[in-house]
Amino acid sequence: MMPPICCICDEDFEPGKGGLIYFVEDEEDKIANQRLRQPGFVGHPPNAFWFCAKHYTKAKKISHLTKHEAFSILKQK
Ligand SMILES: [Zn+2]
Repeated sequence: MMPPICCICDEDFEPGKGGLIYFVEDEEDKIANQRLRQPGFVGHPPNAFWFCAKHYTKAKKISHLTKHEAFSILKQK
């Protein structure tokens, strides 16, 4: 697993604040996740990202989108 650092602001937050969000898998993610489910493969799901408390709520609301769609929204000011 990746260390819990917010993927929007790079904040290294304390455990319990913020959290991991799974976005909807796009085609590439589906292939990668299928591979991760094979025995012997370990890795971080490509559609899972850490968010600090500040960004978690916003990200959670759009977790029904793929990461590309979600990030284009989250990175807007
Ligand atoms: Zn953040």
